[in-house]
Amino acid sequence: MVHLNRVATDAEVKHTKDGVGLVGSFGSFKIDGWDDEPDDFTATVYGSKYAAADLPRHEMPDREMPPQVAYRMIKDDLTLDGTPTLNLASFVTTYMEDEAEKLMVDAFGKNFIDYEEYPVSADIQNRCVSMIARLFNAPSADDANAMGTSTIGSSEGIMLGVLAMKKQWANKRKAEGKPCDKPNLIMNSAVQVCWEKAARYFDVEERYVYCTEERYVIDPKEAVDLIDENTIGICAILGTTYTGEYEDVKAINDLLIERNIDVPIHVDAASGGFVVPFVNPKLEWDFRLPKVVSINVSGHKYGLVYPGVGWVVWRDPEYLPKELVFNINYLGADQASFTLNFSRGASQIIGQYYQMIRLGKRGYRRIMLNLTRIADYLAANLENLGFIILSQKSGDGLPLVACRLDEDLDKQYDEFAIAHQLRERGWVVPAYTMAPHSEQMKLMRVVVREDFTKSRCDALIADFKLALETLDAMDAKRLQQQKEQAIEFRMRRRSTLVGSVSPLQKKATLFTDDHSLQGSHGKTHAVC
Ligand SMILES: *Cc1c(COP(=O)(O)O)cnc(C)c1O
Repeated sequence: MVHLNRVATDAEVKHTKDGVGLVGSFGSFKIDGWDDEPDDFTATVYGSKYAAADLPRHEMPDREMPPQVAYRMIKDDLTLDGTPTLNLASFVTTYMEDEAEKLMVDAFGKNFIDYEEYPVSADIQNRCVSMIARLFNAPSADDANAMGTSTIGSSEGIMLGVLAMKKQWANKRKAEGKPCDKPNLIMNSAVQVCWEKAARYFDVEERYVYCTEERYVIDPKEAVDLIDENTIGICAILGTTYTGEYEDVKAINDLLIERNIDVPIHVDAASGGFVVPFVNPKLEWDFRLPKVVSINVSGHKYGLVYPGVGWVVWRDPEYLPKELVFNINYLGADQASFTLNFSRGASQIIGQYYQMIRLGKRGYRRIMLNLTRIADYLAANLENLGFIILSQKSGDGLPLVACRLDEDLDKQYDEFAIAHQLRERGWVVPAYTMAPHSEQMKLMRVVVREDFTKSRCDALIADFKLALETLDAMDAKRLQQQKEQAIEFRMRRRSTLVGSVSPLQKKATLFTDDHSLQGSHGKTHAVC
């Protein structure tokens, strides 16, 4: 650890200068070709030369610009982004109290990994892990030692969960003198894209239980039937991204016990982990089930923290092979570290701690119950407008509404056309197709987040009505025109993006099907 807390001596300065080959006094230091003409610091932002020039895009500018100009130009540029509160596509938090924001801003400069420098931040993480593990009913006997870590989000939590299951399986196989080169993982085809990433990055075969026209969650029996000696685990989702339904973790658990199969369950509770304990506490999905060994949750979804924070917890160190855990010594005590990232901000972890002690269980419950009521109210109104509701009600699923048009109404337009109409009013409500093997079905989804109040919900319902009336009034020719416009609009937005993104992103974009928003592996970008 370097401490920069005293003035350097002349000798040290000379030593530093010599080290990089600098000579002479600062005033006479000059590089050929650099123009040192003084700036006019009195110009206004919009009266300056910057307002009449392009915003730098590809090459870092040669010279500085005044901070107020840089601020204003970037702020203006960002106004073309959507409004986060009208973005009903995302689960990710768009509102926190001023006090939470203040704490988080104060911690912007803290690198969480510097345990020695910031032991309190490290301890706050441990308090959060402990609270979350207990919320998930981790065994609380004297000898119990659930453990976990903060992550950047559920994706990192899931990567770690998969690594732990893979390693544990491999260790067991090696001890039995058996090969361990063909691991597989069982999951629903409606998994979030990060499961496919985890499988591919860590060379694990994906074994899917496919959705059908009527079932959008995993079939427990089919899942357990897919198990063989190379299965490292089963993923169960507490709130799928497609319809928000909770998968039947207990049924999988019970089948494993009944058939005496030694395969663990990891629960992807990215969204449901901070909903179910408050809305539906009797539902058994967590560490109450002996086969559940690890759980991830996104702090930045219903954990109510700005992006990026997530959590992953294991019921016992037994399920977290020692080889994966690094011990970082701080203040004479060991702090275990099992993450993919090293440096990260401490703000999000502090924000999570604020939310948990500020709201307490009652605070979370009140918010989640309001969201559940609003989701039910929205579902009833959309049903009234002729939609078929595909999500659960009364707290039996996540507070979201997934719906589709009733084909009996014989509408001449589809869900994508409605989404396009709503977009003209500023709402982002994604239309997408169902998971692989049921992708003929189109649906729309509205995520009910903390800042989606009853009155905003009424405004959305009014705009849904208007969108349907507008589309009903269009003749076939006009509908076709609008469809083409919508496709062109999506493609243009994409090609604008391609112009300014990394080569990696460009490659990924070029390899996706141009006429839909689906990636090459069936995951809809809008659904995350
Ligand atoms: C959002 C989500 C993820 C990914 O979580 P991040 O926190 O965005 O990394 C994984 N699984 C499910 C079910 C999700 O809803």
